Amino acid sequence: MNSLGRHILVEFYGGSAEVLNDVLLIETSMLDAAQESGATIITSQFHRFPPLGVSGFIVLQESHFAIHTWPEYGYAALDLFTCGLSVNPWIAYEILKEAFQADHGSAIELNRGQLHLLETADVDFKNPEDVAAYQYSDPQEKRTAWFTDRNDNIALSIRHKGGWVFREKSPYQTVEVLDTLEYGKMLVIDNMVMCSEEDEKAYHEMIVHVPLLTHPARNVLVIGGGDGGSVREILRHSQVEQVTLVEIDEVVIKAAKAHLPTLSSALDHPKLQLIIGDGIEYLAAAADQTYDLIIIDSSDPVGCSAPLFTKDFYLQVHRVLCTGGVLVAQSESPRFNQPKFVELYQDLNHVFGADQVHCYLAFISTYPTGMWSFAYCSKAGPHPLHDFDPHLAQHFSQNHQLAYYNPGIHQAAFCLPTFVKNMITADAPTALV
Ligand code: SAM
Repeated sequence: MNSLGRHILVEFYGGSAEVLNDVLLIETSMLDAAQESGATIITSQFHRFPPLGVSGFIVLQESHFAIHTWPEYGYAALDLFTCGLSVNPWIAYEILKEAFQADHGSAIELNRGQLHLLETADVDFKNPEDVAAYQYSDPQEKRTAWFTDRNDNIALSIRHKGGWVFREKSPYQTVEVLDTLEYGKMLVIDNMVMCSEEDEKAYHEMIVHVPLLTHPARNVLVIGGGDGGSVREILRHSQVEQVTLVEIDEVVIKAAKAHLPTLSSALDHPKLQLIIGDGIEYLAAAADQTYDLIIIDSSDPVGCSAPLFTKDFYLQVHRVLCTGGVLVAQSESPRFNQPKFVELYQDLNHVFGADQVHCYLAFISTYPTGMWSFAYCSKAGPHPLHDFDPHLAQHFSQNHQLAYYNPGIHQAAFCLPTFVKNMITADAPTALV
């Protein structure tokens, strides 16, 4: 080599748009390519620009790799710059061409710092020992990998260790588990946070104990909830005789059982009937008045979850619910999903009657905005506050060492900020049934 470094300017054409918009896949491929080329990774940072495009770089002990993608054109531009003889950037070129599924690529190699043009500078190192220490120190890899859950205007980012603990595309969605620095393992579906080991208790305790401590149901149906957190909480209530969990995607169950043991611990419980199927079809085929508590633990209203947020679906829920029974549904964030939140309460008010629908809130730090809501809908059954026994709730939450739920939180959760109250009560329709 007659230069200090080799700089390959790369263009990939005809690549997969999906891959070129997948920030984690790109980061992982770039890191693999760097390692396979013989480079030592110091740090990396990658970022996705919604709706399309990814930029990122890796700082190497031997210089850097950088990328910018245009998924809409199946195109990526890369800099692969390495110095010294120990790294071969052309190995990275081949690996990345395959990873991005590019039809063809082109590259220009520049020799940077041509030796015959360089002169050794007369450098005065003040402390030769520092220089020696620097030269022989082992580089520590530092990664800056962030997962971001976002809509067009608001985002929540959580730092993780890079790459995936689990990743599988099912017929319904992409299911991933990431290892975060603050919240342990985190389940992500289609780029949306579902739950994490360290922050799941607020959600699961609130979606389950608020109904079950006002309505001691025996036969419970959960739609969604394949991570197992809701089932684990339901089975703390000894009067429950059977829980039926209808989860559309067996990949979620697989991921939870393999990587989220504290959530999925009750998925093999003898009182649980686990059905892999579509909640919509399941309810349409179910007999009238079958369950005395139904919990909708769905993901956000896109893809296969979207029909779980419609009036037709709530009409089916109402039919299948026993008279005197309760529905609790996760009802999104009043801030993050404003239009959906308003529409959902209008539909529930239509179906159950506005005086039977009660919104309550919880603080969930891993969901965008941190403010999350649940709908408690009674079919001529209990009222979430009038039929609440704080002594029983105190005993229960202490006995089970709950992390979030307690009698004070139960009551306070139904006190809504005025702007939320207004969103729900504006033009409250009269009941259909
Ligand atoms: N705590 C979560 C949240 O609010 O983000 C919900 C998590 S839970 C994992 C949501 C589950 O609903 C997913 O596993 C998804 O596969 C399931 N799901 C989506 N659509 C469904 C449907 N139509 N029938 C049954 N389950 C469904």
